[in-house]
Amino acid sequence: MGDQLNHQHSWYTEQDPETLYLIAELHQEATYCKHHIQKVVAFFAAMQSFATHLSRKGHRLLYLTLDDTQVLALPQLLDRVFQSCGAKRFEYQSPDEYRVQQQLTEFSTARRDWLDVVCVDSEHFLLDRLELAELVPSTGSPLMETFYRKMRRRTGYLMEEGQPEGGQWNFDQHNRQALPTELEIPQPLVFANPVGDILDRIERHKIETIGRMPARALTWPISREQSLDLLEYFVAHCLPDFGRYQDALTDRGWSLFHSRLSFSLNCKLISPAEVCERAIEAWRQSDMIDLAQIEGFLRQIIGWREFMRGIYWTRMPDYATRNALDHQADLPDWYWTGETRMSCLSHAVNQSLDHAYAHHIQRLMVTGNFALLAGVHPDQVDQWYLGIYIDALEWVEITNTRGMSQYADGGVVATKPYVSSANYLDKMGDYCGRCEYDASKKFGEGSCPFNSLYWHFIDRHQEVFRGNRRMTMVLASWRKRSEADRRAILDTAENYLKNRHCL
Ligand code: FAD
Repeated sequence: MGDQLNHQHSWYTEQDPETLYLIAELHQEATYCKHHIQKVVAFFAAMQSFATHLSRKGHRLLYLTLDDTQVLALPQLLDRVFQSCGAKRFEYQSPDEYRVQQQLTEFSTARRDWLDVVCVDSEHFLLDRLELAELVPSTGSPLMETFYRKMRRRTGYLMEEGQPEGGQWNFDQHNRQALPTELEIPQPLVFANPVGDILDRIERHKIETIGRMPARALTWPISREQSLDLLEYFVAHCLPDFGRYQDALTDRGWSLFHSRLSFSLNCKLISPAEVCERAIEAWRQSDMIDLAQIEGFLRQIIGWREFMRGIYWTRMPDYATRNALDHQADLPDWYWTGETRMSCLSHAVNQSLDHAYAHHIQRLMVTGNFALLAGVHPDQVDQWYLGIYIDALEWVEITNTRGMSQYADGGVVATKPYVSSANYLDKMGDYCGRCEYDASKKFGEGSCPFNSLYWHFIDRHQEVFRGNRRMTMVLASWRKRSEADRRAILDTAENYLKNRHCL
């Protein structure tokens, strides 16, 4: 599968003429949701480059393009291949997505009379599935911070004699700075991978996609070498400021000090362990990187990334149906076109359409924040996030979207909803100055929609959040407002909600 391109897997330690490796471009994978064109291209290109690597190493390999597989689903394709090569034994790597796991489990069960089936670990994550289940309880709201500390102890990263280096586990409070106007932002490292053949194939097979791809070359890394180059670039140019400006928003650059390693990680061209170890090595060797930066980066990988996987596997399939706030609205049309007058959203959506990428705070506090305030059905929000981002695979997309961003899991991932008014966006970003809407105006014509929608959200979910201590202050401050103020804010919000497709 396209997300199993692990060069270091023990499968490949020896060449075995009896073993045939199958890599196949599948219609089902290209169409289970409407993906960004760059995402489909990146997966196919990475699969091809992985196939070339395996062939060079002397492994027997069958690479099937969409021209060969047409619309065959995975089970039918496997039957066909097994028949033609007379296979008696089938090994597959444990899939990351529930959907594929179901398919392969059903497939294997139905053929167990004649086929010897073995599912092996993908040898990528820091925890295997059994360990995950031990560290992430399947009920309640496990705390990421507790999980993260266990992971620090387990990996020994940034630990000294059983204690966290610097005497502190977490330096998050140092990591919330807005971007100074004079600060130079590194240009993202991009590649120029020729992908004309893949684009033609996608067109020939009428795969519907979203997003833009202006050239016939792909800027994302598609091989292990390129992924390692990106890692080197990150530790040299971005890690020194990673944590400090992790939450900043700007239209002066599209990836700021973020690593853009999520695609390489999620398709397994590089491993979380090697990324962390290289970053720690760079920190130890350089005076430019302080502890808060390296700690902030490690927390994302050994903390959030593994934790989200734990939430996914302990809660699927029910998780995908959760809609705790009973949100039913449609996603505004401009999520697909970028045509909105709200400057922050226009920038985040257009950037996502152009690059198949937005950094975490754009996803959480701009596009996610708006969708939550507008009461959009989490199915639609999930479909958008699953399609648009280069790194979107359900195990990490749904936990971040339905859980962290939309609070649709009722507080499993987030202890309170990630919502804000324009105040936060104005403080952390530089969009508001150029916006048609006024960030300082709370209601009425021309007021920033985030302001009234924020209070509308608080008002309509008062009952849900009444027992949540983290929401006490905000609920009290809403109640303290005059009746006339509240009415004016709610009227403005209702008007914006009614007209949300043309904001
Ligand atoms: P950096 O900021 O450089 O972080 C380094 C690495 O840490 C990332 O590459 C990623 O592997 C990991 N990481 C950081 N934050 C998270 C997180 N919250 N959960 C899991 N891993 C994390 N990430 C995905 O990989 N795929 C998704 O489909 C995805 N969907 C998201 C949807 C929403 C609504 C939100 C709020 C977040 C989502 N994330 C997703 C998490 C995060 O935004 C991306 O991992 C990150 O933006 C990728 O860019 P980067 O590689 O430059 O990350």
